[in-house]
Amino acid sequence: MQQDLHQSEDTAGSIVQEHAAVELNWSEIDCVFLDMDGTLLDLNYDNHVWNDLVPQAYADKIGINIALAQQKLLAHMREIHGSIEFYSFDYWTEYTGIDLIATHRQATDLVAYRPGALAFLRWLQGTDRHTVIATNAHPHSINVKDAHTNICAEVDAVVSSHAYGAPKEARAFWQALLQEHPYPAERCLFIDDNEPVLDAAADYGIAHLLVVARPDSERPRKTQLHYPSFDDFTEICPAILPDSADDAAADA
Ligand SMILES: [Mg+2]
Repeated sequence: MQQDLHQSEDTAGSIVQEHAAVELNWSEIDCVFLDMDGTLLDLNYDNHVWNDLVPQAYADKIGINIALAQQKLLAHMREIHGSIEFYSFDYWTEYTGIDLIATHRQATDLVAYRPGALAFLRWLQGTDRHTVIATNAHPHSINVKDAHTNICAEVDAVVSSHAYGAPKEARAFWQALLQEHPYPAERCLFIDDNEPVLDAAADYGIAHLLVVARPDSERPRKTQLHYPSFDDFTEICPAILPDSADDAAADA
C-alpha cells in the first residue's frame, strides 16, 4: 500500500517510453546510484509488509477489522506522501503503536534480489566505478534487508535519505548526495522504480536515468514509463550473462 502510492503518482511528462533495449554508454559513467527496494530488491516483500502485515497488526492493536485499518493507513499515507516521515519507521511506529521492525521480520523469506541485480553489483565492483545505494528506506528497514542479503557489502556506500533529512523527491537530497559523493552529475547513472524520484534526479542534472519496469515480481511489467526501462539487469549490462546472474544469485 505504501509502495502502491509511489507507483500511482504519475509524472506530468508527455513523452512515454515504450519498452526497448536499453543502451548505456558505460564509458560516460563513473558513478552509479541505485535505489534499493523495487530496483535491487524485489518490491513484493515491501508490498506484502505494507499491504497485509502492517494493516493486520494495526487492526489487532486498536481492535478494528483489516479493511478499515487499510483504509485508515492509506488515508494518512496520502496526507504525508513525499515527506521524509512517509518513509520513517519511527514515525509509523508512533502513529500505529505497533512494532514495525517485528512486523518486517515476519516475512523476510520474501527479501530477494531482482533478476540479475547481484551479478550487476558484482560486475560494477570489478570496474573502477563508484557504487552507492541511494534509498528512502529507513535505516531499520535497510538493516532487516541487509541481514538477509548482505547487500550493503556489495556497494561502496549506502545512503538513507533519513541521514539528510530530505527524501529523494527533494532537490536537497541530491545536493547532499553529490556533496558526499562528489562526481559530476553528467557522469552519474541513477536507477530507480519511482518516477517522481527520477524526475528530481533529472532536475538536478543526473544525466543517465533508468526506471525499473517490474519492481514487484508478483505484478505485471509496467508499460507507460517516461524513462528508458528494463526488468532484468542483463538487459542493461551485456557484460553479465543470464547464466552468471543466476550463479551470483545462487551464491547469495
Ligand atoms: Mg524503490
